[in-house]
Amino acid sequence: MTTTMQAAAAATDAVRMNSLYIGGQWLTPAGRELIPVLNPATEEVIGSIVDADDSDIAAAFAAARQALPEWSALPVSERTAYLDALADALRDQGQQLAVLATSEIGMPLAESRGVQAALPEAVLRSTAQAARDLDWEYQDESGSTVLREPVGVVLGITPWNFPVHQLVAKLAPALAAGCTIVLKPAELTPLNALFLAALCDQVAIPAGVVNLVTGRGSTTGEKLVQSQAYDLVSFTGSLAVGRHIGAVAGDRVVRATLELGGKSPAVVMADADLEAAVRTTVRNCFTNAGQKCNAPTRLIVPAEQRAAAMQIASAAAAEYRLGDPLQAQTTMGPLASDVQRDKVLRYVDGARERGATVAGGRRADRPTGFFVEPAVITDVAETDPVVQEEIFGPVLVILGHQGEADAIRIANDTPYGLSAELWSADPAQTARLVRGIRAGQVRVNGVRSPHPPVAPFGGYKASGLGRELGAFGLEEYLEVKAVLGTFEGEAG
Ligand code: NAD
Repeated sequence: MTTTMQAAAAATDAVRMNSLYIGGQWLTPAGRELIPVLNPATEEVIGSIVDADDSDIAAAFAAARQALPEWSALPVSERTAYLDALADALRDQGQQLAVLATSEIGMPLAESRGVQAALPEAVLRSTAQAARDLDWEYQDESGSTVLREPVGVVLGITPWNFPVHQLVAKLAPALAAGCTIVLKPAELTPLNALFLAALCDQVAIPAGVVNLVTGRGSTTGEKLVQSQAYDLVSFTGSLAVGRHIGAVAGDRVVRATLELGGKSPAVVMADADLEAAVRTTVRNCFTNAGQKCNAPTRLIVPAEQRAAAMQIASAAAAEYRLGDPLQAQTTMGPLASDVQRDKVLRYVDGARERGATVAGGRRADRPTGFFVEPAVITDVAETDPVVQEEIFGPVLVILGHQGEADAIRIANDTPYGLSAELWSADPAQTARLVRGIRAGQVRVNGVRSPHPPVAPFGGYKASGLGRELGAFGLEEYLEVKAVLGTFEGEAG
């Protein structure tokens, strides 16, 4: 056994398989269906989880409801101290968590260390700081006291692509706000969630404040959403499921935060460094084999530079080394499942059949695993499904623009508006592009993720409702109460 295989085995051994974390207890309910968890690189079963049923769900919400009064009454300094303790635990056990996440999702280990361990640690610390900095209570100019109070019991449902980060991006602000939470991770990547629950237990977050139930979306997820037991649902995942959850929440008039998909543009203007812009876009597009909601999947270059961009991008794509994501030399792992691989191949094959020029994009020739060669596509209509729809795989489409107005038109021409990247040497033009593009984040000239991770993250249009991270992320979990008249509050 190699060292990395041993590390992977140790990481899965540390997980409480077939268990739920409810009310501070590990429960291993009998008689539930067990769902196998696969390593997408080897197709081996590395664990299994419970498909939680109605009684498990009722127990989880009851525990969260019971814990709410005491937790929300704790001073902010005490609540945030738990977040800092959890961040310390993540720092100390981040390597194990990264190996585990790589085993579940197939993300190269170096990427996992960043987004599955270091990023959630930073999100915990920065959210704690945002809560300490918040004006929880103040008097406005009318003499009224404005109070911020926790929304209540939160239901958090997360996808598989950045599993630890997505859990923590809900857990951290919910707890800082004084809410309690029931989390349901994606059924493809639940083991890191069980690991995270064990860390919550280890740092002695009070019983019932964090609860974890596992299961399929269509069974456990649907039952959770249909229950009347939560005050806010925070969902990250696909547009179709987000629409459904938003409708259920709307019907009950409970708050819903929806972080949905994207089809993000990278706009390159004629005065930009084409080589740098294209290479950076390829790298950002193919992180986690393209399974990233804010991946820049549409590269929009001056029409006369499209052929050159195709050449640079195809060469950059061909440099990827597909293989075991636990090995240091691997730069692209498999897709998360056979379903995801087949979906990606259908999109690429469809474009090819419609006459597109495609570099790569074939099923990779490997004995096991859900691998697809990265694909770069051009000579395709702006209305083509590969241009309009989120593929969630290593697929970059290159389009040509006829100048600034046309670039903005194409950038905005999808149902989504999560993120955008732009490249220009002209500050005035950059300013017009920033304001013209309808997206929740705009990254200028290759700037990557800000540190600390407090810049609001979320989408315009069909990319969702609400924001995560920093002060804006915290606000999603807070109600506002205005007290008119004499009130002996803390700030009074
Ligand atoms: P998905 O919508 O199928 O599943 C997401 C989660 O919802 C999973 O936990 C799943 O079990 C659960 N679920 C599915 N059906 C449900 C139902 N009827 N009721 C309740 N829960 C249900 O998405 P996915 O395939 O896991 O993730 C990929 C998608 O997520 C992509 O479209 C991607 O763009 C999107 N995404 C968005 C962001 C963002 O921040 N905007 C981040 C990551 C992923």
